[in-house]
Formats: sequence, C-alpha cells, structure tokens
Amino acid sequence: MAGKKYDYIIAGAGLFGAVAARELTDSGKSVLVIDRRSHVGGNVYTEKTEGINVHKYGAHIFHTNDAAVWEYVNRFARFNRFTNSPVANYKGELYSLPFNMYTFNRMWGVVTPEEARAKIEEQKKEIGHEPRNLEEQAISLVGRDIYEKLIKGYTEKQWGRDCSQLPAFIIRRLPVRFTYDNNYFNALFQGIPTGGYTRMVENMLSGIETRLDTDYLLNKEEFDKEAGKIIYTGPIDAYFGYSLGYLEYRSVRFENELLDIPNYQGNAAVNYTEREIPWTRIIEHKWFEFGKDEDGNDLPKTVISKEYSSEWHPGDEPYYPVNDEKNGALYEDYRKLADKEANVIFGGRLGEYKYYDMDQVIARALEVSQKLLTTPA
Ligand SMILES: Cc1cc2nc3c(=O)[nH]c(=O)nc-3n(C[C@H](O)[C@H](O)[C@H](O)COP(=O)(O)OP(=O)(O)OC[C@H]3O[C@@H](n4cnc5c(N)ncnc54)[C@H](O)[C@@H]3O)c2cc1C
Repeated sequence: MAGKKYDYIIAGAGLFGAVAARELTDSGKSVLVIDRRSHVGGNVYTEKTEGINVHKYGAHIFHTNDAAVWEYVNRFARFNRFTNSPVANYKGELYSLPFNMYTFNRMWGVVTPEEARAKIEEQKKEIGHEPRNLEEQAISLVGRDIYEKLIKGYTEKQWGRDCSQLPAFIIRRLPVRFTYDNNYFNALFQGIPTGGYTRMVENMLSGIETRLDTDYLLNKEEFDKEAGKIIYTGPIDAYFGYSLGYLEYRSVRFENELLDIPNYQGNAAVNYTEREIPWTRIIEHKWFEFGKDEDGNDLPKTVISKEYSSEWHPGDEPYYPVNDEKNGALYEDYRKLADKEANVIFGGRLGEYKYYDMDQVIARALEVSQKLLTTPA
C-alpha cells in the first residue's frame, strides 16, 4: 500500500496470525507479525524441558476431517501417529474413555454390545420424567453407574457446583460406543507435530519479520501509521478498552512438575473423576511423542501438568469463551464496533470470541487471507 512500510501488521503470532502471515507473504504482501508474549505459537506453544515438549497452555491434540487443512499443516511439520485415548481414574479403578465397550466391560463385566446396551437401558429407566437438572439428564442418558463414577465428580470440579444444581442443558448428549474403540476423536487425521507445535509455527513464520514482547495496543497509533491493514487476533474487548464491559472466559490452572522418573502414569491424559481429588486431569507430556526424543532415545525424566478448573477474573489468561446469552450479546455489541474499523480485521479465538479447534482456526485464517487477497483494496 502506497506510503506504508507494511501491507499488513498482524497482532498475534498464534495459529491464526501465523497462517495469515504465511499466505499473505507468499502472495507478495509485506507483513510484520508482532506478539506481546515472548514466544510465537499463541496457545499451542510448546516448550522443551529435559527433551520433552511441554504444552504450556494446555494439551493440544491435532485432529481434523479436513484433508486440505491436514495437507497444509504437513507442509510445516511431520505429524506422528498419536491417538488420543484418555483414561479415567475413579478411586483407583481405571476406565477407558470415551465410553465404549472397554469401559462397560470394566464397569459391569459385560462382553457383548447387547449386554452393555441392556445394562444402560435398564439404568436409564430410573428417571421417568423430563430431567430437571444435570444429574437427572446424565442418568437418563447413560444410567447411574457411569454417572456416579465417570461424570459426577469431574463435572462438579469443572463447574464448582453439584450436578443437581446445574441445568440439564449443559449435557445434551453423551456419546456411547458399543465397539471396542477408544480413539477419542472421530477424525480422519490425527497426530502431534514431532518436535512440538512451536517449531511448526516457527516454520510457518519462516522468513517473515516477527517482533516478540511487543503489544499492538500499547503502540497502536504507531503501528497503524506503518501498515495498510491490521489483522488483530487479540481479545476484541481489549481492543476497545473494555468500553462495553469484559467478555468472560472459562479458565484452567496448570501446575507443572518435573519428575525424576521415566514414567508417571503411562498415558498422556488421565482424568480424575472423583470429586475428592482437586485436579480434573493430569497430562504427562512425553507420551504425546511416545516418551522418546527425535532420535528415538528414551527420555529419562517426565513432566506432568495437573489441571484445575478455576474461576476467571479480568486480567487472567483467557481460555474458553463462555457460550451464554449475556456474553453472546456483549460480543455482538463489540462486533458492531469492529465492523466500523475499516482497516482492521479481527480474527481467531480471541478476536472473534469463539472456541475454535486448531484445524478450524487454520481453515478460517486461510479463508480470511484468501478474501483479503481477492478483494480490491
Ligand atoms: C486449554 C485448551 C486446550 C485446547 N486443546 C485443543 C486440542 O486438543 N485440539 C485442538 O484442535 N484445539 C485445541 N484448543 C484450541 C486452540 O488452542 C486454538 O484453536 C488456537 O490456539 C487458536 O489460535 P489463535 O491464533 O486464534 O489464538 P491464540 O493462540 O490465543 O493466539 C493469539 C495471540 O495473540 C497475541 N496477542 C493478544 N493480544 C495482543 C496484543 N495486544 N498485541 C500483540 N499480540 C497480542 C497473544 O499473545 C497470542 O499469542 C485448545 C484450547 C484451549 C484453551
């Protein structure tokens, strides 16, 4: 754009920003990427500790049905064959997730799908009326045993309230599989980028000017002067100085520990489904890459993260947008303000206040970039 140093300045080096930067650069645009954090990757950032790629903002498992997105990410990383098969630990009893024949066999000793189905049907009958709360809803879907051991405590920790005090609509359906299949995701493609997500995002940003520890909003006027257009992937309410109020998030707290043992729990994810244990799950990061470094050597130590549900307060790390009426309406009001910002494109999970899986945010960034490249300025 005439007189401007850059065609685009992209605020945010997460997946949305990195994909947009790559696409625009490859089509001949000049791009500067800035991020207020000291690293690229946004929330998919992984950090190496004792050879283990630790998912610093929560465990991330790439999965998609979108062949184009799968091909796209494979340009920047080699994906391994990791398949998410979490385990639930209820007072030392271990159950396979999602609910499938292995779960039912452990719960009741049943072997055939028919026996499992009969057991669930019999237990569902306990609720003979329209469910009035989450507890009744869950029992009406899968019966009391699964509810008591695998749903109740976990859900109560997540929400900080008794299931009998939570509305029924939170759980609309509970997928139940009558097959011996414990692959959590129903996705055609799944895996973890070997060497970590950070390297994948670094590869996306290869050759593109990137400034870290740089907050767009603190120097907005300067940056606006330098760029034809801004792509902003930070929180939309922060952009407008929270003038209409704070959008809320559901938060998670992580406690990371480096342990001098090779194997803590034998699986990447173990959910703790009893209420008495304060964390909801433990992630053991090395199992995302089969406990080995890139040369195939066994890693001697391990890093675990205990996850706790926590209440979000303004200023905390924003994790999951809250999908309720109040926040939806507030976002709509911010979006109307955003529509008036002619040279700014709001994108990604914070810019659009929307939960996106990684494949979805990549698809969205590809779509937005394409539109920018094909719409006359
Ligand atoms: C706990 C958790 C687990 C998840 N697990 C999975 C999973 O297993 N599989 C999956 O597909 N998806 C998962 N996701 C979703 C995934 O994290 C998102 O799809 C992805 O991170 C979105 O990328 P983004 O670029 O939109 O946002 P972000 O990654 O948040 O990037 C936004 C960037 O903007 C920067 N920024 C903000 N404000 C400013 C500013 N003013 N100036 C400069 N920079 C700024 C931030 O520092 C950040 O780096 C998970 C999400 C969470 C919260």
